[in-house]
Amino acid sequence: MEETLKSGLLSVILPSFNEEASVPRAADTVTAILAAAGIKHEVIFVDDGSRDGTWAAIQAQTDRFPQVRGVRFSRNFGKEAAIFAGLAQAKGDCAVVMDCDLQHPPEKVVEMYRLWQKGFQVVEGVKADRGKENPLHTFAAKSFYSMISRATGIDMSRASDFKLLDRRAVDTLLAMREKNAFFRALSSWIGFSTAQVEFEVQPRLEGESKWSIRSLVRYAVTNIASFSTAPLQLVTLLGVVVFVCSVVLGLHSLWQKLTGHALEGFTTVILLQLIIGSILMICLGIIGYYISKIYEEIKDRPRYIVADHCEGTKPDGQTEKDI
Ligand code: UDP
Ligand code: MG
Repeated sequence: MEETLKSGLLSVILPSFNEEASVPRAADTVTAILAAAGIKHEVIFVDDGSRDGTWAAIQAQTDRFPQVRGVRFSRNFGKEAAIFAGLAQAKGDCAVVMDCDLQHPPEKVVEMYRLWQKGFQVVEGVKADRGKENPLHTFAAKSFYSMISRATGIDMSRASDFKLLDRRAVDTLLAMREKNAFFRALSSWIGFSTAQVEFEVQPRLEGESKWSIRSLVRYAVTNIASFSTAPLQLVTLLGVVVFVCSVVLGLHSLWQKLTGHALEGFTTVILLQLIIGSILMICLGIIGYYISKIYEEIKDRPRYIVADHCEGTKPDGQTEKDI
């Protein structure tokens, strides 16, 4: 029996931050590959508050290709926000998120789309290897992913942001109100019938990676906190450990007092003060961090602010403004 395949519009979402050199290349490659494969598509560039000529480059692409659109943030809100803005703009029956620097090979999009046609609702790009990175980076990434995998119960060691999502999955993600949304984990967490496509991380052709050590640490801490309350439980655990120690040392001090050696324990007192003091500070910090996250969520500020739009059908550069 002949299998009936779905077909529909594919939205390609490309978050771009200071990517003026990559934007034209991405537009050329993506549109060429999808047109050759006969896939109806639209391309959405999200300019994440770039400080170079990225927006001008995106506008230039909308003049060249009618299916290209652009959204510009009022400032840099981060890649996660850019992905969600792209998903919110997408009109397709499915949407694929990929890096603008083409480190996610665009040919794989065709393979992902074919799987979607067969009925899969989430198609995940998994890294065959992590590309060229320094050993320290690899170690840090490994520790972060093992923590987040434990918190989510999903194996994240080879996960990436390169994903194709069915309209259903897109709408589910957009309906989530949390501000610290971690796309890579959330898109697995929502479930749906999932397929995987392996890809090799390509070398970056233009510009440089936008991640500094500081931003990576912030990314790791934010996302662990958004998926896990284990650090808060650690506070309780530390409390129990310190309590057990204090009982032992308390008994020891009493014994010394009763046997007439009371003054000798002075070093112990200083050490105890230092240890308990620092543990208390750390615990307060952890609790404070979660409270600050609750505060951020409760303020209910938007994830991002859109400053400008552009699209292929308006070559005169007209834009609609909104917030
Ligand atoms: N990016 C973004 N906002 C940011 C940082 C990065 O939209 O604040 C985009 C960037 O333009 C690229 C993708 O996210 O398309 C991946 O960034 P990058 O190549 O710097 O990261 P790496 O590949 O080194 O993980
Ligand atoms: Mg990259």
